[in-house]
Amino acid sequence: MAFLTHFPFHPIHHHSSSLFTRLLFSSKPKTLLIISALSSPQTSLSHFSTTSSLETLQDISITEQTHLQIAQEKLFIPPDTEICSEKGPRILKGSNIVLSKYARDAQVVSAEFVKSSVETEACPADGLPEFALVGRSNVGKSSLLNSIVKRKKLAMTSKKPGKTQCINHFRINDSWYLVDLPGYGYASAPNELRKDWNKFTRDYFLNRSTLVSVFLLIDASIPAKKIDLEYASWLGQNQVPMTIIFTKCDKRKKKKNGGKHPEENVQDFQDLISEYFEAVPPWIMTSSVTNQGRDEILLHMAQLRNYWLKH
Ligand code: GDP
Repeated sequence: MAFLTHFPFHPIHHHSSSLFTRLLFSSKPKTLLIISALSSPQTSLSHFSTTSSLETLQDISITEQTHLQIAQEKLFIPPDTEICSEKGPRILKGSNIVLSKYARDAQVVSAEFVKSSVETEACPADGLPEFALVGRSNVGKSSLLNSIVKRKKLAMTSKKPGKTQCINHFRINDSWYLVDLPGYGYASAPNELRKDWNKFTRDYFLNRSTLVSVFLLIDASIPAKKIDLEYASWLGQNQVPMTIIFTKCDKRKKKKNGGKHPEENVQDFQDLISEYFEAVPPWIMTSSVTNQGRDEILLHMAQLRNYWLKH
């Protein structure tokens, strides 16, 4: 299937409603307003679509209106990317990520489990670029990995006894790796064991030369947890390239979870970690239930990977 790097403006239909995303420049200078909303099929407003190039949109549904307001200085602009002053930036839906000319070859054609390693030195040595998924246990890491590769059970490999504490490598399209790292923050794990996991993954973050970006998963259906903030700040302070993947964005606000929408939790989390980062890290809102963000993750990985391969 041909991969499009330019995104046409046309309505996307989903059952009886159509999903559209518009980019508007608000009256406030340097502020972009991105609106994702449900509209009736006959609505002829243009939208900004990133998904049409990868998949049909039948899996995508947004049940509520979402409004994201992103100041221009809070966008993630990939290296070697110039923003057209007339048209403005092309931003991946539900994210702060500007699309670059490196966003190509984003489809997953094949995915296979390669190996489990207990230390950085034992990881595959073929020099292929890789992305590491990490997050608090139960954040939705296995679900997201399965959704990215479109396999119901691939990530189960990492959950087999003996492998939950390992670095698990999955080779994609024979050309890059998705890496499943041990989940952190198990309430039941003894402290000593927890410290060991930290040492082990820290060593991987600091010494794995083929690591393009860590994908830190944060549950957007609940308020920020201290351990997640600590993890993000450690990555920031050690200048490990990081993308924040907000999970469970389909979940609606619940009183017991702090009564906030995922969009509000996403904003709060960014505010809380901002002091640890010189440049704003890229972030994407996702859901493994609706597949929201799947194609955006793949496009983001593709543009980081292709840039990395060239430099
Ligand atoms: P892991 O421990 O990080 O690998 O998390 P899992 O992928 O096993 O998911 C933990 C729980 O969260 C399971 O009950 C999943 O069904 C649920 N879950 C995972 N992703 C999502 C999501 O995007 N939306 C919702 N509503 N639930 C999710």
